[in-house]
Amino acid sequence: MEGLPQPIRDPQNIHKKIFINNEFVDSVSGKSFPIINPTTGKKFCDVAEGDKEDIDKAVAAAKEAFKLGSTWRRMDASQRGRLLFKLADLLERDARLIASMITLEMGKTFLLAYFETLWGAGALRYFAGFADKLGGKTIPIDGDYFCFTRHEPVGVCGQIIPWNYPAVMFVWKIAPALACGCTTVIKPAEQTPLSALHIATLCKEVGIPSGVVNVVPGYGPTAGAALTSHPDVDKVAFTGSTEVGQIILQASGVNNIKRTTLELGGKSPIVVMDDANVDEAATFAHNGVMMNAGQCCYAGSRTFVHEKIYDQFIAKTRELAEKRLELTGDPFDPRTTHGPQVDETQYKKILELIDSGKKEGAKVESGGAALEREGFFIKPTVFSGVTDNMRIAKEEIFGPVQQIFKFKTLDEVIKRANSTEYGLAAAIFTTNVDNAMMFTQGVRAGTIWVNNYETLSAQAPFGGFKMSGIGRELGEYGLSAYQEVKSVIMKIPQKNS
Ligand code: ADP
Repeated sequence: MEGLPQPIRDPQNIHKKIFINNEFVDSVSGKSFPIINPTTGKKFCDVAEGDKEDIDKAVAAAKEAFKLGSTWRRMDASQRGRLLFKLADLLERDARLIASMITLEMGKTFLLAYFETLWGAGALRYFAGFADKLGGKTIPIDGDYFCFTRHEPVGVCGQIIPWNYPAVMFVWKIAPALACGCTTVIKPAEQTPLSALHIATLCKEVGIPSGVVNVVPGYGPTAGAALTSHPDVDKVAFTGSTEVGQIILQASGVNNIKRTTLELGGKSPIVVMDDANVDEAATFAHNGVMMNAGQCCYAGSRTFVHEKIYDQFIAKTRELAEKRLELTGDPFDPRTTHGPQVDETQYKKILELIDSGKKEGAKVESGGAALEREGFFIKPTVFSGVTDNMRIAKEEIFGPVQQIFKFKTLDEVIKRANSTEYGLAAAIFTTNVDNAMMFTQGVRAGTIWVNNYETLSAQAPFGGFKMSGIGRELGEYGLSAYQEVKSVIMKIPQKNS
């Protein structure tokens, strides 16, 4: 394990207060809430609990920072870009510390958290480069007019993020917002405020003016709800469950009309044709559902395998799950690939769904139970013989549970892939280009992977069809959610020559 980045098991200088106007402050109510380490199931520390009053203060700060004539609004776009580049450098500088915090608060394996932080730095650099390239157009309208468009920042953003990728989610939200010149109030998930509060200090360190980035830890139905319904918030960006996404979509239209983007749940299909390389496909499918202990919105949680290669695929998949079980344990240990679930609620929900799979007649090929040790560990689980109407075939499990289905024809499997309310991602493994084309055209999902899985890039847009969301993050497409387009039409005086 030499040469690998080493974790900081007992990080010092952890910030536990609310970050408004570049300062840490107590909650107005004086309340705090516990952070539980999922590896032990025990409390690690307390963090100030933001509520409506704290959201009001943070939104007021963001509104002030967005005022015409403010330091932020007057800053050259190239300088905004420079600040984001610097922030990327600091994220890399502190990657060991941020990753260690993530391991403590959500149980992600340290190395994955470390690389997550580096991916975050990459996404920051991608958006930093856009800051001074967001020009409009000149448009040849009829008549004696000169028409052009200005791309202006949408305003104060309320950004609510989940716990599964705390560093990357923070960056995916602030990077396009700041590149476009917006200001923001972020509510991190209640499980993972520590990494978010540390990144907030880095925003201050690089010189982002006060009030531009504010971070209010707290619970969803209180702090989150106050942010999504606040009349001074112009835009809401949310990543999380479909259930909460529906609540947020309603709240964002109550006191004003907020521009709203949602990146929600999934039940993504992975299709393995009989002409695919079986071992390679099984490995992608395994990692595609087990990565981050199964806690990914794009997890490939429905694996459809052609009947001709079904048995061979199951044998390989069982082998992979058993190997993963051997590498399950302390997430700080760089050899560990599989850590605990984030909290007791998720842990119980996953075990209940595993139970339902057994009761409804699916066959457990591997795992199928909790690990006997402290903390919220579940064995990597593989079900075969899954049918489309079982609960494990329909509900998002958000845990290390793979469902394997059998199919005969491409037509049939495209229909089954689409028979879900979700549409976040899908994949096909095949060596036949016609199969690949038919699949990419036929499946309604925001990302289609061909012969790979979970390849994400700051340059490629990401988001969902159907109940997996509204709008796209990342890529040039991801900038449009943070800009208003203003048409300017000027009369051109005409002279008789
Ligand atoms: P998960 O199932 O991944 O925990 P959630 O959708 O419950 O996802 O949570 C994602 C984020 O949404 C968290 O920051 C959470 O606090 C927040 N949240 C939960 N409920 C609400 C709500 N009613 N309004 C606004 N935000 C909420």
